[in-house]
Formats: sequence, structure tokens, C-alpha cells
Amino acid sequence: MSATPASPLNLLGMPRQRLAEQFEQWGERGFRATQLVRWIHQRGVTDFSAMTDISKALRQHLAAQAIVRPPEIALERGSDDGTVKWVLRLADGNAIETVFIPEDDRGTLCVSSQVGCALDCTFCSTAQQGFNRNLTADEIIGQIWLANRRLPVPEGRSRAVTNVVFMGMGEPLANFEALVEAIDLMLDDNAYGLSKRRVTVSTSGLVPALDRLGEVTDVALAVSLHAPNDELRDRLVPINRKYPIRELLQACRRYTRDGGHHHRVTFEYVLLAGINDQPEHARQLIDLLREIPCKVNLIPFNPFPGSPFVRPSMNAVRAFEGLLAEAGFVTIVRRTRGDDIDAACGQLVGQVVDRSNRPARMIRLHAELPVQPGASA
Ligand code: SAH
Repeated sequence: MSATPASPLNLLGMPRQRLAEQFEQWGERGFRATQLVRWIHQRGVTDFSAMTDISKALRQHLAAQAIVRPPEIALERGSDDGTVKWVLRLADGNAIETVFIPEDDRGTLCVSSQVGCALDCTFCSTAQQGFNRNLTADEIIGQIWLANRRLPVPEGRSRAVTNVVFMGMGEPLANFEALVEAIDLMLDDNAYGLSKRRVTVSTSGLVPALDRLGEVTDVALAVSLHAPNDELRDRLVPINRKYPIRELLQACRRYTRDGGHHHRVTFEYVLLAGINDQPEHARQLIDLLREIPCKVNLIPFNPFPGSPFVRPSMNAVRAFEGLLAEAGFVTIVRRTRGDDIDAACGQLVGQVVDRSNRPARMIRLHAELPVQPGASA
């Protein structure tokens, strides 16, 4: 057995296959990795000594070589509408945000993929803090691990989180390796067992990385379009200057296999008053997307301090939606959730201080992280 490494290996974000290889390097049987993955992700256990169906020798070895360490909760706030927001403190002192959005039939966790973001979309508050670093797979999977430990489990379900969307801070496709490892665990039946339709990668349109993603998985795809022509999109989503709309849409078709093998792509479109919300924009959008099997997700702009944009009136939003619906597009207007705790899209700024100072009702969460030996989640 090798000497203790300087900083212990965190096993939280390690996909089962990689864990098995690591075990084999340690001279252990690879299949033990399955047991470990179940302990960590299904039972939420981080203490190797509690993993009773693993041999004592292996447990001791693990304790000497490795750790299972999620990020720390710096702040946890519940909204009146059931939304919960966490500010998580990473080992290096950086902070990220994660939001849980409950609905009748599902519980969606909105996860961050980077500390800050480099893409500089003009209407997004994360852009304002610039780019700091990529999250590790531990830090991405740690968000779902923590949410499942903290949230009460609704009746008839085994876990609170049923869906994951990469719509928190950061551009997931700019953090490719960690993204793919985290997705692996989300889909693994021994870990979270989510179906591919319940994991959504949202991207501003990094075309080469999108093609690579299509080679390794077919999780659901959301694309932040936000404008129906290059002139406007160049200004709102600057990465468009590198990968213009035509190239992006071709990549979407490749990813979804034209709506065949993979499922349909969702186009996100933030509505900014007077900028991209006029009937002419809706008509351009209809022409642009006519041939692509897709859904359109309209997001009325969520304002944040210092932003020059304004949310359109509800009438303008309905009119825009109406034109798309008339043209036959499945169109959804995203409801703003967690308004009272600044948990809406584009408002996750990674500040530990509570900027609003508004009181928020805490929902009933587990007071401590329960360990349930023997319980299969
Ligand atoms: N980098 C990824 C994830 C971003 S967050 C992406 O670009 O898709 C998820 C969605 O929220 C994106 O569509 C993003 O453009 C949108 N968004 C960002 N800021 C917003 C704001 N202030 N109001 C409404 N939507 C916003």
C-alpha cells in the first residue's frame, strides 16, 4: 500500500468506474466501488467507519488515504414559495450558490459549474464577478449530495431532488471534464439514478464542447439563445462572435440527431424590454427555429442592482408567447421563483452577505445530517 498522500483524495465526485480503477491500484477488488458509491450517494454517509458491509481493513485503508467531503453550507434560506437557496463555501474559501425549486411532481436542483463566469453575457449578474475557476466534480456533485441531505423527502419519493439543471453560476461546457464526471454520478443507478431527461445542461453555445458532449452522453440540452439574429446576439451573448447562430443551431441539430435519437433542445430566451421582446423579434425567432425540433423557454428578465435592462410588461410577454404558440412552438414562460431570497436566474452572485436584508421564512429542514445505516434510499 502506498504512503499517505499530502492532501487526501476526495472521493465524493469520483464516478464509479474511476473509483473501481483506484481500488484496483490499491490492490482491492473493483466491485467494492459500487458499495462505496451507494454509501456515499444513496445513504449520504461520509465516515468510512460507518460503512459496515465493507471489510474493516479496507475501511481503515480508505480512512488513511481518502476523504468524502462536501462543500460547507455558509447560508441556507427558504422562500415562501418553497424555493431554497444555499451559499456554499468551498475548501479554498470561494463561494457558489445552489437553488432548489420544488414543484408538485418534481424537485429541481439548479447547480453551479464554475466560480463566476468568463462569458460576459450583458444581462447576467454572474458575469459581473468575472471568472475565478472551474468547480471540481466533487464540488458539483456536492451540491446535489447536500441538497438531498438537507431537504425533507416528499411522500412517495425516495429523494427530494428528482431533476438537475446546470443553470446556476458558470458555463458548464467550459468545465467539460468535471461536468461529464458529475453527470456520470447523476445518472448512475448506484448513486442518484436520474434519467437523462432529468439532467439538463444549459449552455450559451460553446460549439466544439457541445459536439464533444454529444459523443459521451445525451442528457437534455438547453441553449441560451436570447436573440433571433447575430447582430443582437453578438451584443447580448458575446460568445456569439465566435460561434454565430447558424453554427450553434447546426450543433444543436447534431446533438439532438435532428430530434431523433436524442430528445428536443430547449431554447432559452430572456425577455428584455425594448431590446429583444418586440413582435418582429418573435417573427425572426419563428423563422430561425422553424426546422428544428425544439421547445422555447421564455424568461422574463430578472433585474439585479446596476443592470441597465428592464423586465417587459406581462402583456408584452404574453404577446411574444402568443406569436410563438400560434406558429406551433411549445412555449413556456418561466415563472420567477424565490424572488424574496434573490434566487432567480441570473441573480446568483456568490455573496455570502445577505444583500436584501429581507426576512425569509425558513422551511423545515433536517436539523442535522442523518445517517441511516442499512436504509436504501
Ligand atoms: N452558462 C449557462 C447557464 C447560465 S444560467 C448558459 O448560458 O446557459 C441559466 C439561464 O439563465 C441562461 O439562459 C441565462 O442566460 C439566464 N439568465 C442569466 N441572467 C438572467 C437574468 N438576469 N434574468 C433572466 N435570465 C437570466
